[in-house]
Amino acid sequence: MGKTAEIIAIGSELLTPQRLDTNSLTITEQLNLLGVDVVGKHIIGDDRNLLTDAIRAAMNRSAIVILSGGLGPTEDDVTRDAAAAALGRKLVLSLEQESVLINRFRQINRPMAANNLRQAYVIEGAEVMPNPNGTAPGQFLFTDRGVLALLPGPPRELRPMLIDELIPRLRPVLPVQVIKVRTFRITGIGESDLDTLIAPVYTKYQNPATTVLSAPGDLFVHLRAVAPTEKEADELLREVGNPIAELVGAKIYSEDPEESLDAVVARLLRKSHATVATAESASGGLVAARLTDLGGSSSYFVAGYVTYTDQQKIEMLGVSPSLIQKNTAVSQPVAAAMAEGARKKSGATYAISVTGYAGPSGGTEYDPVGTVFIGLAGPEGTRVVRYRYGVGRDRVRALAVQHSLDLLRRTLLRIEN
Ligand code: AMP
Ligand code: MG
Repeated sequence: MGKTAEIIAIGSELLTPQRLDTNSLTITEQLNLLGVDVVGKHIIGDDRNLLTDAIRAAMNRSAIVILSGGLGPTEDDVTRDAAAAALGRKLVLSLEQESVLINRFRQINRPMAANNLRQAYVIEGAEVMPNPNGTAPGQFLFTDRGVLALLPGPPRELRPMLIDELIPRLRPVLPVQVIKVRTFRITGIGESDLDTLIAPVYTKYQNPATTVLSAPGDLFVHLRAVAPTEKEADELLREVGNPIAELVGAKIYSEDPEESLDAVVARLLRKSHATVATAESASGGLVAARLTDLGGSSSYFVAGYVTYTDQQKIEMLGVSPSLIQKNTAVSQPVAAAMAEGARKKSGATYAISVTGYAGPSGGTEYDPVGTVFIGLAGPEGTRVVRYRYGVGRDRVRALAVQHSLDLLRRTLLRIEN
């Protein structure tokens, strides 16, 4: 049997701005764990004809079709009817379901309205999936091309039925598959440059599937491999991932999808028993904020100086007035002096400085808006890097933060450029 699925969520309320179809997320999560890809999700109102068409079309395309909702007792619950019509099969009264319903109403001591009996009708050939959390049972059946499942709408009924009843029925009819992922977290290169670099590798492969996601100064490359065994999935990830790792090199700061750049820096600082301070102008304390994001940061973060005016660069960091006068505050020598001043004043092993024109106004002919100097002073001396980020204040500041953390990372790893 094929490995693709479609989900149809049924309910007119799901087409209003107030309600969201969350059941399909639950279903997708469970199917993915089985190695099944969801290739289409649909939302159909409580309309018998539209639903019949949608079910028929989905069954023509995909081996697994899962319906959620519309199994209640009322006139607007059309899923049973529509599924039977799409299959060209009859609905038959299940005496067993009838007595389940009667017992259930007896238990809760309520009279059973006649329309409740609708819930005891089952599509010819379908297996009933019991619903311990509600009155509408689910249904499961084999079709010419695969399987069709009907699940109740309320999430607290659907989820247990999905996990306890549907997934165990699907597992034995599916080819065994394993999904494995490999993630690269990357900084210091733009999204399009990265893609130009690695596309020649990954576009040759459908499996693993590669996606590139980006935030300013922070890129993710995800590889997702599907294979019959874990070993083969790992092999695919190596085959495509290793050449990518080779090409991107030290711009990869982590292969752990959860490890942010500041977490990497924190790990490296701890490992080398080093501490850090910051001297920030254009970034206004954002670097210090990132360096103190994690619990326990007091073991490596010493102090952050936000010196926005020239006067404060002079007073707090000991930058010489003539240096600023000669070079302006946004310059290589001042970035170096800020970092050195912060290092001296705080006693930290390293100090990061950021000075630049975040915009929208400011800048000079040679150093237009978007120019940022990032400095790092440490035991091995002082480095300053000049960036030209272009326009967009938020973006400029976000990039400056990432690149200043990255400069520290590279220094701690003794990476030259
Ligand atoms: P139904 O079985 O269609 O009568 O659905 C009963 C209730 O379950 C609805 O009123 C919704 O609150 C909820 N529900 C139905 N479908 C979904 C869905 N796809 N996602 C989240 N909640 C749903
Ligand atoms: Mg409904």
